[in-house]
Amino acid sequence: MGLFDRKELNRLLHRHFRPLAAQNIHDMKWKKFFYRKLCEQDGLLVCRSPNCDVCADKAHCFGPETGNRLTWR
Ligand code: SF4
Repeated sequence: MGLFDRKELNRLLHRHFRPLAAQNIHDMKWKKFFYRKLCEQDGLLVCRSPNCDVCADKAHCFGPETGNRLTWR
């Protein structure tokens, strides 16, 4: 999407998808959050654990997002 950083993505999601974005109360990484919501909606559970607090993958779903942003040429 060419956004500069996570803050810009946060602003975009809260501006245009506020009810959905407001559900990310623990600041989960957005892609993980969307997958989690889809799983909840369809009754599927692809996570290793039903509870994030005891999940071995928690570090992958929460915390800072680092890396280079994609640029379009
Ligand atoms: S922390 Fe674990 S349970 Fe929570 S969304 Fe990530 S993979 Fe699923």
